[in-house]
Amino acid sequence: MSDDCIFCSIVAGDVPSRTVHEGEHTFAFLDVNPLVRGHTLVIPKEHYETVAEMPDDVRDAVFTAAGELTPAVEEAVDADATTIGMNNGAASGQEVPHAHVHVVPRFDDDGVGPLHTLDWPRPDLDDEEFDDVAEAIRDGPQ
Ligand code: 5GP
Ligand code: ZN
Repeated sequence: MSDDCIFCSIVAGDVPSRTVHEGEHTFAFLDVNPLVRGHTLVIPKEHYETVAEMPDDVRDAVFTAAGELTPAVEEAVDADATTIGMNNGAASGQEVPHAHVHVVPRFDDDGVGPLHTLDWPRPDLDDEEFDDVAEAIRDGPQ
């Protein structure tokens, strides 16, 4: 538990939330400022900032919970689909530094577009640059 973390305070029950799931390692609740009705956050109960910081069993539990909750979220608001994602680190826009998976209901006619419509710079990579990136990822953190 991190003392000044809003999501740790929610897990502890010190800050109220509209809880929709609680497991051994996991907790899920409605986003207080939803992008759309039914917007749900799935988090580890323990404080980890990013996806990589979570131990394997915790990360597995978080993504399993997100997967299992998704049909319930969709049915609750009669959604046609969901966008599921994390802002993972401050540079990506993560505002609450306690890892969380967003489960956001989507509708056939919502006009929001896919994750690809974020304002990406879209680099023009040649074969060597693709190969270098793939090799660096395969090598893992040094
Ligand atoms: P981030 O930008 O870090 O990926 O998303 C943080 C999310 O947490 C935002 O969508 C925001 O609305 C939500 N949030 C921030 N504070 C609270 C809170 O106190 N309660 C709830 N339920 N959601 C919160
Ligand atoms: Zn926390």
